[in-house]
Amino acid sequence: MICIMTSKCIGCTICKQVCSTGNIQIVDGKAQRIAATCDFCLACVHHCPFHAIGLKTEKIQKQDTVTPK
Ligand code: SF4
Ligand code: SF4
Repeated sequence: MICIMTSKCIGCTICKQVCSTGNIQIVDGKAQRIAATCDFCLACVHHCPFHAIGLKTEKIQKQDTVTPK
């Protein structure tokens, strides 16, 4: 999941401009994701000059994993 750290965001709009799916908007001077999921192209992560966007991974529970036969 894409995670925006609002304390680092200055609302420069670069992430909004590079997002091909229109998934980011600027609200009150801070970037916000519109949808919970996206294409995970990571363009916003790589282009943010303030390192305010990161990738948060879900912890995979052991019982949820599938063992190959
Ligand atoms: S590129 Fe970074 S600093 Fe600029 S609006 Fe997006 S999250 Fe905020
Ligand atoms: S990872 Fe790609 S699709 Fe998802 S919000 Fe960032 S730029 Fe948009």
